[in-house]
Amino acid sequence: ATPTALMVGTGRGAQLGILIKGPEVLESTRRVDTVVLDKTGTVTTGRMSLYETVPAADTDEETLLRLAGALEHASEHPVARAIAEGAQERVGELPAVERFENVPGLGVRGAVDGHEVVVGRARLFTESLEKAATDLPAEGHEGTALPAELIAARDRAEAAGRTAVLVAWDGRARGVLSVADTVKDGSAEAITRLRALGLTPVLLTGDNEAVAASVAREVGIATDQVFAEVMPEEKVAVVRRLQEEGRSVAMVGDGVNDAAALAQADLGLAIGTGTDAAIEAGDLTLVRGDLRVAADAIRLARRTLGTIK
Ligand code: ADP
Ligand code: MG
Repeated sequence: ATPTALMVGTGRGAQLGILIKGPEVLESTRRVDTVVLDKTGTVTTGRMSLYETVPAADTDEETLLRLAGALEHASEHPVARAIAEGAQERVGELPAVERFENVPGLGVRGAVDGHEVVVGRARLFTESLEKAATDLPAEGHEGTALPAELIAARDRAEAAGRTAVLVAWDGRARGVLSVADTVKDGSAEAITRLRALGLTPVLLTGDNEAVAASVAREVGIATDQVFAEVMPEEKVAVVRRLQEEGRSVAMVGDGVNDAAALAQADLGLAIGTGTDAAIEAGDLTLVRGDLRVAADAIRLARRTLGTIK
C-alpha cells in the first residue's frame, strides 16, 4: 500500500463520515466475510419510548411507574431512559433513589421510598429471590414467582418485537413495562449493501429472542444468524467463536458492552453517536451512526487497497 493511496482513502473516508484510526486498519477489511451487528443503538435508533404499563392485579399504575421510574432515572441504559421519561410524563416528579445498582445485561436494583425495587429481565428478579430463599427450587421458579397475567403481558409484548421488563419490589412481581425501539431508517438498505459486498450479516444482542427475531426479519438478517440473550461479557466470545470457525469478522457496535467485541473483531466499527468506550475500542468510527456507511467504509477500504495491488 503506497502512503499516498492510503492518505487519499483516509481523506475520502472523512468526507463520508468515517474516521479511520490508522492506515493499517484498511488492511483488515480485505478478508472480512462476516459483519456482526449489535442491535440496540446500532441497527435500531436506541431511542426507546415507554409503550405499555401493565400493573399486577394488586398494584396500581401510578405506584408502578413511580418506583420503576425513580430507579431507572439513575441508569443510562436506553430502556431505563424510556421508562424514566415515560414515568415522569405520566406521574410527574419521581422520588429520590436511596440505593442503586446496575446489573449489566439484566437491569437495575435498589431502594426507593423504603422499598427494595428490581427492574429488568425476569431472571434478575427470580435470581434475587433464590438468593433470599435458597430452599426455593432454581428451575421452574419463574412459574411460581411470576403471576400468569404478567408472563402473558411480557410474552405478548416480546412477540410484537418490544422489549418487556419486569418490575418487582419487596420480593413480589408488581408489573410489566414494555418499551418500543425503532429500526434506523437506513438499516435494511445497509444489510442489502453488506450482502452485495459478499458479507454475511449476523445480529448480536442482549435482548430476548423474540425481539431479536423481529428486528432481524425487518432488516433482512437470516434467523439462523441471530444471537440473542447474550450477556455483555459473552459478546466477545461470540466473535471469537466465529473467528475460530474460520470467519473474518467485522463488528459494529455502540455500547460499553460492545467494546471488548469491537476490540476482538478483525475490524471494529464504532457508532459515532454511541459511547466513548465503543469509539476507543473500534478501528474506525461511523460519525453519524448511519449503518449504510459501514458498507461504504468496507467498500472504500477495499477500493483503496485495490488501487495498489
Ligand atoms: P443490547 O445488547 O441489545 O444493547 P443490553 O445487553 O444492554 O442490550 O441489555 C440486555 C437486556 O437487559 C435489555 O434488553 C433489558 O431487557 C435488560 N436491561 C439492561 N439494562 C436494563 C435497565 N437499566 N433496565 C431494565 N432492563 C434492562
Ligand atoms: Mg447497543
